[in-house]
Amino acid sequence: MLVEPERTPYDLRFRFLGFPVRVHPWFWIATVLLNGDGLLKIGPEYLLIWVGVVFVSILVHELGHALAYRRFGADANIVLYAFGGLAIGSHIVSGRGRRILISLAGPVAGFVLCGLVYGTNQALEWGQSADERAPNGLEPWFLYHQLIWVNLIWGLFNLLPVLPLDGGQISREVCGMIWGPRGKRIALQISFAVALAVVAYSMFCAIDSGQYGAGIMNSLPWWFLRGGVYSAILFGFLAYESYRLLQRVEWTDTHWDDRLPWER
Ligand SMILES: [Zn+2]
Repeated sequence: MLVEPERTPYDLRFRFLGFPVRVHPWFWIATVLLNGDGLLKIGPEYLLIWVGVVFVSILVHELGHALAYRRFGADANIVLYAFGGLAIGSHIVSGRGRRILISLAGPVAGFVLCGLVYGTNQALEWGQSADERAPNGLEPWFLYHQLIWVNLIWGLFNLLPVLPLDGGQISREVCGMIWGPRGKRIALQISFAVALAVVAYSMFCAIDSGQYGAGIMNSLPWWFLRGGVYSAILFGFLAYESYRLLQRVEWTDTHWDDRLPWER
């Protein structure tokens, strides 16, 4: 899943702050599929704003990783594709602490953008708030709301200790610090359990808000993290990936133990 996608003639390529950026055509398709249906009904301009928001937000997130790589002496290039984005370092940076900072830098860059959007709106009221919408038209309000939402919520989801998300990478380093070589397996177990919990929670949210739901989630404040069908599918896939990797790690472990019993 973290494999860099093949180059295509339809790639959009440019440089940003000295980092080569490549946008795979699937990035646009996946972004439209994620939200396009409902937005097209309101108006095509909303779909354009949505695609722009996702593009800028993921680029800023990956830029955070890339700048951290550069800070620790590695080069980086950025790829945006169907699953979001990748910042690929030219080599593995030594030191767990540094690698944790590189993983943190992505979500932190998103939170900084979120703060800037919130701050400029407080000062200039360019987007207005949800309660006093309309003075500038609905588009600025939509732009403001989506920028805040995507950068905050995706950043928080990304920090869950699920591999290969940023939080999963951090969890793997922390587990390695505590448990040494066994850390990788423990990080995968945590990843599997948390991903399954997110699937269960997402399905509960989806059913609760549906026809037969009790609407319990509706009584909670708007900022309370909710899941849905999309996060259930995504985390179901991630749980399966962790399970698959766990089988392989476990096999290697017993294999290792069988051959070198004195090493145990
Ligand atoms: Zn990231």
